[in-house]
Amino acid sequence: MASLTKKELQKKYDEYKAQGLALDMTRGKPGAEQLDLSLPMLDLVTSKDYKTLAGADTRNYGGLDGIPEMKEIFKDFLEVSSTDEVIVGGNSSLTLMHDTIARAMSHGFPESKKPWGQQSKVKFLCPSPGYDRHFSVCEHFGIEMITVPMTDKGPDMDVVEKLVAEDKSIKGIWVVPKYSNPTGITCSKKTVKRLAKMTTAAKDFRIMWDNAYTVHHLSKEQDELENILEACKKEGNDERVLIYGSFSKISFAGAGVAGMGASASNINWMKAHLSMSTIGPDKINQVRHARFFKDFKGVQKHMKKHAAIIAPKFDAVIEILEKELGGKKIATWTVPKGGYFISLDVPKGTAKQVVKLASDAGVKLTAAGATFPYMKDPKDENIRIAPTLPSMGEIKLAMRVLAVCVQLAAAKK
Ligand code: PLP
Repeated sequence: MASLTKKELQKKYDEYKAQGLALDMTRGKPGAEQLDLSLPMLDLVTSKDYKTLAGADTRNYGGLDGIPEMKEIFKDFLEVSSTDEVIVGGNSSLTLMHDTIARAMSHGFPESKKPWGQQSKVKFLCPSPGYDRHFSVCEHFGIEMITVPMTDKGPDMDVVEKLVAEDKSIKGIWVVPKYSNPTGITCSKKTVKRLAKMTTAAKDFRIMWDNAYTVHHLSKEQDELENILEACKKEGNDERVLIYGSFSKISFAGAGVAGMGASASNINWMKAHLSMSTIGPDKINQVRHARFFKDFKGVQKHMKKHAAIIAPKFDAVIEILEKELGGKKIATWTVPKGGYFISLDVPKGTAKQVVKLASDAGVKLTAAGATFPYMKDPKDENIRIAPTLPSMGEIKLAMRVLAVCVQLAAAKK
């Protein structure tokens, strides 16, 4: 589409503003139609039928690391080699990640000379743009964050290898390895190998491998991710990686089941700490999930139904970006094969302004900067688009407004 003058753009913007819109594109939540897919699950545990396959009573305490049938599903889901390498926990993987860091701070890992919290400085590498809540966990515990560029193959490994080799206060790195939040990229084979192999000055270094979108493909064309635990074991770095995932965007967000995968010794470390904070997880919900999905194949089959609902929403976002901004050299965006986000880069120094313009016109977007540590996008250019929750009509309207805001901010620059 031909470029409009600043005056024409302003007129268009004012017209949208006058409509009193109230559209929300902030968080990556499943839409109601997606949540409906899992409703039958709610009828699978009844007052007469609530036992595990082995006949355990789910109404009572116990089973710290999950019921056996759910551990089987998580073994395949997290791609570990045995159920000894799995904990099936409560409803949230973020809680498991937070608690891992909390325990490292208070007690340290088995190889830590002192708990992280008693060391003068603890730093984490934060590939960015990345997931805002990983960064808030670091901030919450006073862990210094170092921004590392995210490439289309994963974290910039030249930067990562150099930093971890020379600074022993760098204790870990966050990675969303598949269909990453927000860029949608998947770590290449080489990136996984380098992460597994690299020399780290810190002996208790951990990769926080948040595989939140492992089965969240948008079509048949899918990204493949190398098995990180196997890669680490091959390099003799068995303890390096902690893998997380959940059913939040498979069944019910906030009422799914979360799990952690790692070497058996890391799992035992986590279980010892877990036993101080709980006598066991919600096994009733685990039975519900195990009965509904049956096995990992059942999970994969279910995700095709999600894709049928959300892929058209992603397509609509991309189509409008192409139509309104394509060829104008003012913005670039990702076209992910899975996950929950599209990442939009607008002209340097205008992301905050674009988000404000959109907000004033009734379109709420994730705060500019949120995808970077300390909410500071050094180039002020990244905006995260979350298309799953709004209806198709709302998405199209919101994207048209956003496209005008991007052009207006670019014209004002
Ligand atoms: N990890 C990533 C990368 C996410 O994008 C999200 C939610 O948006 C989560 C974790 C949260 O997962 P959970 O609901 O299991 O805590």
